[in-house]
Amino acid sequence: MDSIKELYKIGYGPSSSHTMGPQKAASIFLERNKNADKFSAELFGSLSLTGKGHLTDYIIKKTLGVDKTEIIFNNDFVYDYHPNALKFKAYVDNKLVDEWLVFSVGGGDLMELNEKRNISKSSVYPHNNMTDILKYCKDEKISLVEYVKRFDNVRDYLKEVLSTMFSTIESGLNKRGVLPGSLKLKRKANDFYLHYLQNKNFSNFLYAASLATAEENASANLVVTAPTCGSSGVLPAVLYTSKYYNNINDDKLLDALMVAGLIGNIIKYNGSISGAEVGCQGEIGSACSMAAGAYSVILGSTNEQIEYASEIALEHNLGLTCDPVDGLVQIPCIERNALASAKAIDAANYAALTDGNHHISFDNVIKVMKETGKDLNLKYRETSTGGLAKK
Ligand code: SF4
Repeated sequence: MDSIKELYKIGYGPSSSHTMGPQKAASIFLERNKNADKFSAELFGSLSLTGKGHLTDYIIKKTLGVDKTEIIFNNDFVYDYHPNALKFKAYVDNKLVDEWLVFSVGGGDLMELNEKRNISKSSVYPHNNMTDILKYCKDEKISLVEYVKRFDNVRDYLKEVLSTMFSTIESGLNKRGVLPGSLKLKRKANDFYLHYLQNKNFSNFLYAASLATAEENASANLVVTAPTCGSSGVLPAVLYTSKYYNNINDDKLLDALMVAGLIGNIIKYNGSISGAEVGCQGEIGSACSMAAGAYSVILGSTNEQIEYASEIALEHNLGLTCDPVDGLVQIPCIERNALASAKAIDAANYAALTDGNHHISFDNVIKVMKETGKDLNLKYRETSTGGLAKK
């Protein structure tokens, strides 16, 4: 598996697959066609159906040039390889000079047609699943935190990640008004925070922190993918609450961030973190699983308890659909972040009350999540053509 630096990306919302990935692809295409005087970008599948709400067209035009870029929304064709396809074309004097089909496969990552999905670019980790990692840790008598430290030189980068996560929360906590887009949805983080100042309630603080990031993401502001933009409010809220409500120090939070990253990496490698591919179970489910692992580290849980907590969190998000209203990363996404942060803490507390033994392994629940995602009707996979999006 790759370094967890590849999982935690610092960038602008509202969507890692629909904004960050297409922006990266457009930048690459521009770099190789600096002389082009006209571009087109054809969006397929989920990118076409929810691209407007997710600002895909806006970010591509902004990157390639507003006046010289045409966006084509193709709702009639979906590639089997992955539903998030983009086809770029570059022209000079109306003559086609370059063409590139690329897929935005989740978490801001790009792949080309039929490129093998579960392959690492850097392979910094010698293992690709939790079973092998736990066995290695047992043989070596090390914790999961020590495992990450042994193979991935990531601590300095994670300091930047943590600091960005917290400044995003603080920025969101202080804002009021409505979010951009057709729904005119009212920001709630500040209201929740004001309630917290009166009642000092733990859940109130946690929800406020989670809403703050999710609302910043919906406003196309700076977030950290954890593992995606749409689910970027879950893990930071758990860490922020641990620091400011429970007085946990930054060293412990960095340890927690490491293990959460490892968990996200395993899901990304063996399953998917793309809502267009497997529904929201791949986004909020993965984020919840990562945050459960993180909170388990904070509780001082064993490797087996951490694995169990992550498994519970993913298992109890199985089948979660992605049907954002009006294609915006707002309903159900924002509330879903808040509720998932609470579920993550519950999963960690639950697992910590056991010896870590349980029936379904984390690796198996990832397989089930992927199979379930493949079986989900397309209308429940980030197309806004069914479910909540039609109510
Ligand atoms: S419903 Fe979930 S997967 Fe879909 S856009 Fe919202 S957060 Fe992302």
